[in-house]
Amino acid sequence: MSLLTIDRLEARHGLLTAVREVSLALKEGETLALVGANGAGKTTLMRAIAGAHKPAGGRILLDSTDVTHTPAHRRVAMGIALVPEGRRLFPGMTVEENLLVAGAVGRPGPWRVETVLDAFPMLKKRLKARAGTLSGGEQQATAIGRALMTNPLVLLLDEVSLGLAPIAVDQVYHSLAGLIGSGTTILLVEQDLARAFGVATRIACMLEGRIVLEGLAQDMTREQVTAAYFGLGRGNGSGGGQGSGQDGGKGHHQP
Ligand code: ATP
Repeated sequence: MSLLTIDRLEARHGLLTAVREVSLALKEGETLALVGANGAGKTTLMRAIAGAHKPAGGRILLDSTDVTHTPAHRRVAMGIALVPEGRRLFPGMTVEENLLVAGAVGRPGPWRVETVLDAFPMLKKRLKARAGTLSGGEQQATAIGRALMTNPLVLLLDEVSLGLAPIAVDQVYHSLAGLIGSGTTILLVEQDLARAFGVATRIACMLEGRIVLEGLAQDMTREQVTAAYFGLGRGNGSGGGQGSGQDGGKGHHQP
């Protein structure tokens, strides 16, 4: 039984279809890494799941409840939390205030300020600091902590390593490994394949709005995912990847 089911989801920006017939299922405790070149549609998909972008078709089910047309704030209360690209903290509020504001809108559960600090020790000394004064790594930790404060059933992480120094990425991923180990269900967008393979139980690759490769990480090679990423031939995951054969990699950075 899947905790999150995406069924033939379509999402558009005006005339541009950014997400095309995407189907994915995420079981409780799984970590699914969504990879793909710039513009593949990953952020639009994540925003659609969170309720921040209205889908043009298809369905989103949380624990078999259809949430396709449920407003974003209701989805948070039901257990879907998004850490958006760019983090979007309240810069004038302290770390603690950012966490507490989120805690007020989510579900009941084990996450509170103390448990977030246990998961992200780097925030302990910064609790009273304004979010606008934090380093990139501290901001990302606060953004993930803020999402955890809602006690989500599913945590959506959009490019947590974007713009961070390598050491900060290591710290954030170290904490993420703890979350994954404790059974948190996670869908994350990650451009770095090594990182994706390091944390994910399953990997899905998007190209031009479609899932072109999907399967268990342990059944895939980096070469297969890289080929799917650039639309070179066919992938070989359990989802039966269908590479478009076009050069989707032009102008995009290397995975
Ligand atoms: P990135 O890694 O660059 O964030 P992505 O895989 O997350 O890429 P999206 O940001 O979802 O991809 O973009 C998918 C497509 O939708 C792209 O062609 C992009 O140009 C387009 N797009 C994204 N946001 C908008 C917007 N607000 N208005 C119009 N087009 C958009």
